[in-house]
Amino acid sequence: MSTLEIRDLHVSVETKEGPKPILRGVDLSVGSGETHAIMGPNGSGKSTLAYSLAGHPKYQITSGTVTLDGQDVLALSVDERARAGLFLAMQYPVEVPGVSVSNFLRTAKTAVTGEAPPLRAWVKDVRTAMDNLRMDPAFAERSVNEGFSGGEKKRHEILQMELLKPRFAILDETDSGLDVDALRIVSEGVNRVKATSDVGVLLITHYTRILRYIKPDFVHVFVDGKVAEEGGPELADQLENEGYDRFLSSAVS
Ligand code: ADP
Ligand code: MG
Ligand code: MG
Repeated sequence: MSTLEIRDLHVSVETKEGPKPILRGVDLSVGSGETHAIMGPNGSGKSTLAYSLAGHPKYQITSGTVTLDGQDVLALSVDERARAGLFLAMQYPVEVPGVSVSNFLRTAKTAVTGEAPPLRAWVKDVRTAMDNLRMDPAFAERSVNEGFSGGEKKRHEILQMELLKPRFAILDETDSGLDVDALRIVSEGVNRVKATSDVGVLLITHYTRILRYIKPDFVHVFVDGKVAEEGGPELADQLENEGYDRFLSSAVS
């Protein structure tokens, strides 16, 4: 049993006018095998949390801690975070011209585990994972993210997660830009990883629809850079019916 623990996290983003505080004291604990949905209105800081965990240089941690079983995550480089078992899709470059999906995945797997996977078994694993995600085998030979559609980016993200077998996965807006069929396939991929491993999932989303496919154990509502309310799956149902108005009006007063 592992725990990813975020304590009183304050983060500022670098802007032309100087650093702008976005996260204002985030507290969150994710255990192995748990799925936590982070929901909230646009601009509430959800992606800032994901980028901060990923170690994006634009996001400055001004106070607070992030630990993985007591280890200081914030002191780790991006690569070290991946080796520690954190999966953050956005930690990778947006486009990697000339590097095929197939080579990229093998390099990432080697970086995470410390040794190159045996080629024959690896090729089979990649093929199976791509099959499961209904991806055309030709996709493996394309350059990473070059000309990927929104749906292809999301499938590639889940493909990485299936193959890298992380301890904790942070998925930011995995549902955005997906039609219903793609949403179901991508969700099934996440559920497969959940069923076959003890992965802890932080599922960041503005909309409730992905939560019909991926059942959260806990729901945290983000408003104005911190968790404003927490509950079980019923909180997502409530948000589906009522939206975020209740939180926004209380945030203004
Ligand atoms: P969410 O993912 O919940 O929609 P974000 O974390 O993307 O929210 O953004 C939170 C707030 O931080 C917004 O007000 C946004 O405008 C601001 N912000 C985020 N990144 C930057 C940036 N690079 N430069 C300026 N403002 C930013
Ligand atoms: Mg966002
Ligand atoms: Mg499980």
